[in-house]
Amino acid sequence: MIKKQSDIDRELFVIKKWYQQYWPLCGLCGHLVKNGDLAHVVRRSYSIELQTVKLNTFLSHRDCHDLWDNSPEQAVYLPRIIEILYISYLLSEPYFALIAEHYMDLSPVLQLFPEIPYQEINYHGELLSLQYLIKQT
Ligand SMILES: [Zn+2]
Repeated sequence: MIKKQSDIDRELFVIKKWYQQYWPLCGLCGHLVKNGDLAHVVRRSYSIELQTVKLNTFLSHRDCHDLWDNSPEQAVYLPRIIEILYISYLLSEPYFALIAEHYMDLSPVLQLFPEIPYQEINYHGELLSLQYLIKQT
């Protein structure tokens, strides 16, 4: 059954409220978000099913969100970009393969993703140690 857009919007509203209450930090830079967007790791236009999966969403500053969506050459410098790319790898390997070519500078790290152990992850706060895991590898 295909979800109605109004149902999707309602689910996204609930997810955004959850993040604002429990994890109000930008998924890309890590700083507090006061008035921001609910951004997606895997683009909404790429996967309808993933639109309302909590792990595929995060709060974001509008500027950070814009870099993530439109300027990978700048987004590569965002402090949490490795974690966001790792989440995209977890959620959809084909999508990760599509975008990874924009992040060639990170390719030594991106190649480690299949070897990184992970537990069930539900939201971004559970991933903060990822870059330290990678550094130890
Ligand atoms: Zn930010």
